[in-house]
Amino acid sequence: MLGGQPYVEAQDGLSVQDWMRKQGIPDRVTTEVFIAMSKALNFINPDELSMQCILIALNRFLQEKHGSKMAFLDGSPPERLCMPIVNHIESLGGQVRLNSRIQKIELNKDATVKNFLLSDGSIIKGDAYVFATPVDILKLLLPEEWKPLPYFKKLDKLVGVPVINVHIWFDRKLKNTYDHLLFSRSPLLSVYADMSVTCKEYYDPNRSMLELVFAPAEEWIARSDSDIIDATMSELSRLFPDEIAVDQSKAKILKYHVVKTPRSVYKTVPDCEPCRPLQRSPIEGFYLAGDYTKQKYLASMEGAVLSGKFCARAIVQDYELLAAREKVVAEASLV
Ligand SMILES: Cc1cc2nc3c(=O)[nH]c(=O)nc-3n(C[C@H](O)[C@H](O)[C@H](O)COP(=O)(O)OP(=O)(O)OC[C@H]3O[C@@H](n4cnc5c(N)ncnc54)[C@H](O)[C@@H]3O)c2cc1C
Repeated sequence: MLGGQPYVEAQDGLSVQDWMRKQGIPDRVTTEVFIAMSKALNFINPDELSMQCILIALNRFLQEKHGSKMAFLDGSPPERLCMPIVNHIESLGGQVRLNSRIQKIELNKDATVKNFLLSDGSIIKGDAYVFATPVDILKLLLPEEWKPLPYFKKLDKLVGVPVINVHIWFDRKLKNTYDHLLFSRSPLLSVYADMSVTCKEYYDPNRSMLELVFAPAEEWIARSDSDIIDATMSELSRLFPDEIAVDQSKAKILKYHVVKTPRSVYKTVPDCEPCRPLQRSPIEGFYLAGDYTKQKYLASMEGAVLSGKFCARAIVQDYELLAAREKVVAEASLV
């Protein structure tokens, strides 16, 4: 890290495990510290994760005043995160349409975007087009004409990683949880928290509600919810031996909820940093946003927000070009 950003970037070719071994750091350190960190950052183990990812996170902890701060939303994301964003957009005259996915990017003869065709059959035309889905969806909807371009071709290496979220409501308050995010290096669990302690909306003095990230999830994503709950309870019985038993002879499950995301954030394996695209694409008037696009943070909410800012900046910079283009299209349609 003393080598600065160029050094950090140069470590993209090595996995965390390989980098540790290259420095002569015993595998014990990887097992005791970096399993938890790798899973928390990208839902995979140190033998797969690019070392650059760890160094970027550590750099932030060291260099930014609030870099290591952790916080919880005080309620459910649709209500506490999405609704304020929707209200803001609508207050400025924008529109948010749910359940209307982009089904096709339709092109003009010059391979620029003619319109987006939505799943409800409607057509969206714009002066500029921003595509802000996860990278796997972009790849699925990419027009044939664009596929050979190196900018889009290198997206092949970016693939979403599977992850599972488990929510368990227990009949009692667990004593060994804390008002914080907890990091596990157990084989199947990653970060978790007792939401009845950490989060105002779920506060309960008598019963715990654990929310856990189950990762790596590659081998579990197709399994049944009850298999996943059984495996989670088996892991929890090792983390809370006095309070949780697999057969529920100790804390009992009142209800549970399993959320599977077969393709979540892009898998940060070695050598994928050069494949992350800039927000301005080579197609005039077509832009990308999303955590996988080029920005200094990792695959995270902050990264997604920063990518949106870069995307907006690119559109503002291109304003005159876009306006001139609009004029040419309008004139052509009059002829
Ligand atoms: C289990 C889990 C835990 C996480 N924890 C954290 C955390 O603690 N902190 C953190 O910073 N990050 C966390 N992340 C990562 C964070 O959620 C992502 O980095 C962030 O959501 C990426 O934002 P995005 O806008 O790039 O993509 P997304 O949030 O995936 O948004 C893409 C949007 O595109 C929409 N879409 C998909 N297909 C179409 C289509 N055809 N047409 C139109 N729209 C479409 C989707 O519905 C979605 O709303 C976590 C991720 C997971 C899966």
